[in-house]
Amino acid sequence: MSTFRRLLRFIAPFRWWVLLAVSLGFATIGSSVGLMATSAYIISKAALHPDISVLQVPIVGVRFFGIARGIFRYTERLVSHQVTFRLLAELRAWFFSALEPLAPARLQQFRSGDLLARIVADIESLEHFYVRVIAPPLVAVLVAVLMWVLMAHYALPLAIVTVLFLAAAAIGIPLLTRSLGRGVSRSAVETRAELNVGLVDSVQGVADVLISGQENTRRTTLARLSQKLTALQNRLAVANGLNAALMGLLTNWATLAVLLIAIPLVSRGELDGVFLAVIALAVIAAFEAVTPLPETFTNLEGSLAAADRLFQVVDTEPQVVDPPAPSPQPESFGLEVRDLRFSYRPDDPPALDGIDFSLPEGGRLAIVGSSGAGKSTLVNLLLRFWAYRHGEILLGGHDLRRYRADDVRRMVSVVSQHTHLFNATIAENLRLSRPDATDADLIAAAEQAQIHTFIQSLPQGYSTFIGEQGLRLSGGERQRLAIARALLKNAPILILDEATSNLDPLVEREIMATIHRLMRGRTTLMITHRLVGLDAMDEILVLSRGKIAERGTHASLMAENGIYRNLWDLQHQVDLLDAGALPIALTDGI
Ligand code: ADP
Repeated sequence: MSTFRRLLRFIAPFRWWVLLAVSLGFATIGSSVGLMATSAYIISKAALHPDISVLQVPIVGVRFFGIARGIFRYTERLVSHQVTFRLLAELRAWFFSALEPLAPARLQQFRSGDLLARIVADIESLEHFYVRVIAPPLVAVLVAVLMWVLMAHYALPLAIVTVLFLAAAAIGIPLLTRSLGRGVSRSAVETRAELNVGLVDSVQGVADVLISGQENTRRTTLARLSQKLTALQNRLAVANGLNAALMGLLTNWATLAVLLIAIPLVSRGELDGVFLAVIALAVIAAFEAVTPLPETFTNLEGSLAAADRLFQVVDTEPQVVDPPAPSPQPESFGLEVRDLRFSYRPDDPPALDGIDFSLPEGGRLAIVGSSGAGKSTLVNLLLRFWAYRHGEILLGGHDLRRYRADDVRRMVSVVSQHTHLFNATIAENLRLSRPDATDADLIAAAEQAQIHTFIQSLPQGYSTFIGEQGLRLSGGERQRLAIARALLKNAPILILDEATSNLDPLVEREIMATIHRLMRGRTTLMITHRLVGLDAMDEILVLSRGKIAERGTHASLMAENGIYRNLWDLQHQVDLLDAGALPIALTDGI
């Protein structure tokens, strides 16, 4: 389907509003024509010194059209903006809900600045689609019909000439200026997007840019893009200026043409001379309807470019497609993985290669391995963020692919290394996992996560704003909030994805103790490269380059003298060194 038709579909629910706005737009310009015509009539007629009673009706007409014009214009703006803003709100919600199933697998191909540009700037460009693209041509057609009726009332040639000039202005000027500025609007949209991407990237990475001394290169790139955008906007401005000049020229020619036709009619006595000014001024007023049309073409191009960029994201096929049937009822909350193989792209080496394990309900399994071993990949597959083709994952006795992604995620709590905290209050951040939790629930969870006392010590307690991404909190506090969130969610399966890896050993041990409380009664999968607290696990898998290299309990693996033992020894030495540095760490305020 063409982009234009797809865009029109968004307007369909608002068609009555659009119709109302177009009618009001027509009424506004109709009133302008009426105002000019009646004024011209009064002035011409008054010059003949008629009886004042003859002028009574036109005087009322001037008053009516004068006031009506203002009121119509005001209500037209009100209605247009109402439609526009509702449309924008719908578009944003539509785009976000289209984005959700694409995260995170498919969104990798778009840069975050680019996505931001799309969701902010492109959607805003569509604001023009209704106000400056759809409505003006419709209003212009209605005004042309009005002028035809009005002029034909005096003489048919007048009607023909007026409509021809209106058509020339409505179609001819845009075609001419469009051929001058072909593609400029589209390039401007794309350049602006590129500039946004560059800016967001530079702001996000400002520390690294400064450290690596790249600020000049960055500045030059951004300046170049900015200059390109200015040049494009200049070209658009030149085209717009040309439009305005040509429009003025055509208006004057149209006035001249109708006068050239009407004057002989007056001399032959076929037309009352009083109407000469009426005709001329009505034509001038009618041109108000076609004045915005050249811009319509430019805006159409810009809107289509913006819409294309949005549809491009929305049309991306999600990596994981929900099954059409409702999810099965799990028989238990155990997990079974059989011969699981997965690579992110067809020609990538496998990130997981022949993984097998069985985790019964309430069981505890740890997956350890160095960075890049494939641990997070397993979590991505379990949470249905990515789709796998080879092997099997059974959740409660059913293939994971038979569950809807939402249903799987409802059964699982995740405490990860990067707990995202929103720029909101502590209470709101906790309620993310259970929106209907009462204050008592929040406190109970926070107490269990041992963060309640800390929250109470804050100036506004649970209503304290924690700043963007919770920057005002320490790593340990953030993890405790994440644990409280998981406790609130009370899901039967728990995934701990490097939950303590950002913390120093002392805090790590404390958090681990809290986590052990969280694990009670829940099926737990712990992913970690830190070998701490693993003696409490039923089984440990040691992953290396996507394969299971060793498996067993902490005691059996330690006895084996293999990778696990090596890793453990290595970490122990580092931790001992860290412990030696403890006084310094303490003065740093852990
Ligand atoms: P770990 O969590 O053990 O550090 P990962 O599961 O993140 O390891 O990574 C396993 C392999 O998959 C690595 O080679 C990594 O480069 C690759 N990988 C991870 N995430 C992606 C991704 N989103 N796209 C492509 N390759 C990825």
